[in-house]
Amino acid sequence: MTFFKSLFSATAIAATFIAASASAQTYPERSITMVVPFAAGGPTDTVARLVAESMSKDLGQQVLVENVGGAGGTLGAGRVASSEPDGYTILLHHIGMATSASLYRKLAYDPLNAFDYVGLVTDVPMTIVARKDFEPTDLKGLVDYVKANKDTVTVANAGIGAASHLCGMLFMSQIETPLVTVPYKGTGPAMTDLLGGQVDIMCDQTTNTTKQIQGGTIKAYAVTSADRLPVLPDVPTAAEGGLNDFQVGIWHGVYTPKGTPAEAIEKLNASLKKALKDENVVARFAELGTAPSPDSDVTSAALKAKLEGEIARWKPVIEAAGQYAD
Ligand code: ASP
Repeated sequence: MTFFKSLFSATAIAATFIAASASAQTYPERSITMVVPFAAGGPTDTVARLVAESMSKDLGQQVLVENVGGAGGTLGAGRVASSEPDGYTILLHHIGMATSASLYRKLAYDPLNAFDYVGLVTDVPMTIVARKDFEPTDLKGLVDYVKANKDTVTVANAGIGAASHLCGMLFMSQIETPLVTVPYKGTGPAMTDLLGGQVDIMCDQTTNTTKQIQGGTIKAYAVTSADRLPVLPDVPTAAEGGLNDFQVGIWHGVYTPKGTPAEAIEKLNASLKKALKDENVVARFAELGTAPSPDSDVTSAALKAKLEGEIARWKPVIEAAGQYAD
């Protein structure tokens, strides 16, 4: 009896093992959900959709983008952290993964330990922009104007922990003037309000602002890169406009819930690497003022190191600002 019992459990274990390795070999067998923790139509969404489209072709299964916006990206990240670690729910998030670790007193997940890492995607510059008819004509004029009108000027952002929030905080701290902020579920909807004139200014990734700046539908005061961007040659750097220490790049990465099978992560990583070399992705990124991360950064180790380094980098800055979310 005992013999049959142990034979049975040995067979069961072997069957489970065979099933597990078979499914890892055939992964993905169905569509994959790529959660973007911001609203559709914004800059993170734009990056994700380009990458997801290319990965779908490579993996032979749809990589479907799902927008889970709100609370500066922490709702979407939380959703993925608590998902089944089977490779079928993945997250594309940006620098907010690092800043929210210090900005939120309570997070439903531990940014450093709740995820496995697939790789970095891109590092996107930001732009300081305003509605088209906003009075100031250059960055110096903007600073003077907002200082004189600090109770009425409104700054859009995608909630505490978002890149736009971080950039807005840097702006306010540099000009030593707190401004009225208006949170959205993403800067896609914030851009709609900027175009409609319901909100005054915003600091956002070029992946959302480049086309609008080129089309003259919004005003641009500065880019946050070290040099001017080829796609926006007339927009000065923040340093040229008089704001030093204002270089900020919005790095993006792909994550899976902790415990995802290594084989799935390897497949996702190889597919992400290919997507970042896809001619269409490279061209569209360039049009939007950014570039794919080099292969050496599209690794689990590189993304993990980036996240660790960035959490350590922003913690003292956030503590000095003393502004937290619950
Ligand atoms: N650009 C947004 C941010 O501020 C996010 C988004 O809507 O993609 O983080």
